[in-house]
Amino acid sequence: METFQIKTAAHSCAVDITDRVEAVLREKSALNGVCLIYVPHTTAAVTINEGADRSVMEDVLESLEKLVPWQGGYKHAEGNSAAHIKSILTGGGAQVIVDAGRMVLGTWQSIFLLEFDGPRTRKIHVQFTGERADSER
Ligand code: ZN
Repeated sequence: METFQIKTAAHSCAVDITDRVEAVLREKSALNGVCLIYVPHTTAAVTINEGADRSVMEDVLESLEKLVPWQGGYKHAEGNSAAHIKSILTGGGAQVIVDAGRMVLGTWQSIFLLEFDGPRTRKIHVQFTGERADSER
């Protein structure tokens, strides 16, 4: 498992981490297999969606805010239940197929860290399972 960190810059934001995950796969000499990208946090998430047009993720974040407003009469004393709920709705991890060392992402797809209670420093764990270029046969 490899881990990298991202410092998020806003209370709610989407950070494109595709390049960071690709760097891990290069480092691991990944060839064919599956890559799991996972956040060990309860108020953040990882998702795969459109990275070409930044306004898509802005729309996603704004829509999540409408679905789960920050002020909602929640019981959780820390006051960030909306962030926990958004994390559950969007998911703490994503998997990508790796073929010949490259992630199989669609033309418009990127991997995003979703921050729902920032700014904070977030960890992203990456685990590659499969054939490596430097493995013995
Ligand atoms: Zn909390």
